[in-house]
Amino acid sequence: MRFKDVIGQDEIKAKLVQAFKENRVSHSYLFYGAPGVGKMALAIAFAQYLSCENKEENDSCGHCPSCQKYEKLVHPDLHFVYPHLSQGSPNKATSDTYLDLWRPMVNKSPYFSFRDWTNNLQSENKQCMIYAAESESIIKKISLKTYESDYKIMIVWLPEKMNAECANKILKVLEEPPLNTVFMLVSNNREDILPTIQSRTQPIKVLGIADEPMKHALIERYGLSEEDANDIVKISNGSIIEARQQIEQDEENAFNFENFTLMMRLSYAGKVPDAIELAKSLAKLSRERQKSFLEYSLIMTRENFVRNKSLNLAYLTKDEEAFASKFSRFINERNVNEFIKIFNDSYYQIERNGNSEIIFADTIFNIMRIIRL
Ligand SMILES: [Zn+2]
Repeated sequence: MRFKDVIGQDEIKAKLVQAFKENRVSHSYLFYGAPGVGKMALAIAFAQYLSCENKEENDSCGHCPSCQKYEKLVHPDLHFVYPHLSQGSPNKATSDTYLDLWRPMVNKSPYFSFRDWTNNLQSENKQCMIYAAESESIIKKISLKTYESDYKIMIVWLPEKMNAECANKILKVLEEPPLNTVFMLVSNNREDILPTIQSRTQPIKVLGIADEPMKHALIERYGLSEEDANDIVKISNGSIIEARQQIEQDEENAFNFENFTLMMRLSYAGKVPDAIELAKSLAKLSRERQKSFLEYSLIMTRENFVRNKSLNLAYLTKDEEAFASKFSRFINERNVNEFIKIFNDSYYQIERNGNSEIIFADTIFNIMRIIRL
C-alpha cells in the first residue's frame, strides 16, 4: 500500500515523509483515532515507504522487490500483532496462529472494523485479546536481524486489547528497540491503553477523512454517483467504515423497496402465479434478509398509514414517497392492524425457522385478500 492509496490524510503523510527525510523516524508510533479513518492504511504505507529501495519524492515506488512484497503483506521484516482467540490452557496461540485469516482481510482492504475481524475469526462471543504468549514472539522477532530491508516493522493493531502481562513484558523493547526497528501501534481507544505503553510512543492523532477525498473515494471505489456520495459524506463522520455500512444499508433498503412494491402490485392485481414466484425468490434469501424485508414491510405499512391520515412524515426516500403518494390510500384504520399482524406473524415464523416459501406465499395471499376488499 502506497501513501497515494491512503484516502486523504495528506498532513500526516507529509509529516511521516518529513521525519524520514530529516532522519528522525521514531522507534514507536501510536496512530489513534476513530475506526475507519485510515490508521492502519497509514501505518502500512509508512512501513512500505521506509522499506522501499527506490523511493519517489513523497511515496514508495510500488514496484521494487520490497514494495512488491509489501503489496502482498508478505515482506519478511513486516510483522503484525492483533487480538485473537486463545487456544489451550495456558494459551499457546499467538497472532501468527491466525495469520491465514488476517492477511487476506488486510490485503483486501486496510479499512476494517473490530467486528469484521471477529466475524472472520468466527469468535462469536469469545474474548479476543493479545495474550502473554505474544510478548515472547515479539521479542524473538525483533531480536533477529532484518532479512532484506533496513527497517523491521512491528504493527500492533489495538494495543488496548493487550493484557497487562504481555504489555509489561514488552515495555523494555518498546522503549529501546534494536536499531531500525519501528513499532506502529494502531488504536481505536487510546484511553484504554496502559499508560506505561502510551508514554513510550509518539502519538499521532488521525482525524476523520476530509470531505473531498472521502467523496472521491466513494465515487471511485464504490461507484456512487456524485449526489449519493455527497449524501454519504454528510453522515459518515470521515469514516470509510461508517460510509460502507451506510451504503450497504441503502442497498438493502432499495432491495426491500423493490420487493415490497412488487408484492403490493401483484396483490392488488390478484396475480397468483407471479405472487408464488415472488414467495419463492424471497424464500431463497438468508433468514436475516427475510427478517429485514418483513421489518421493512412493517415500517412501510406504518408510514403509508400515517401518510393516509395526512400527518407529517419525513422518513421516506424519494422513491418511497412517490410510491406512497399512490399506495397510501390502501392502508386505513380498518385494515392497518391486519397488515401489521400479517408481517409480525410472518416474522415470528421466520425466526422460528418455519418453511419460508410457505410463509411468504401465505403472507402475500393474506395481503391480496385484504387489499382487494
Ligand atoms: Zn519500492
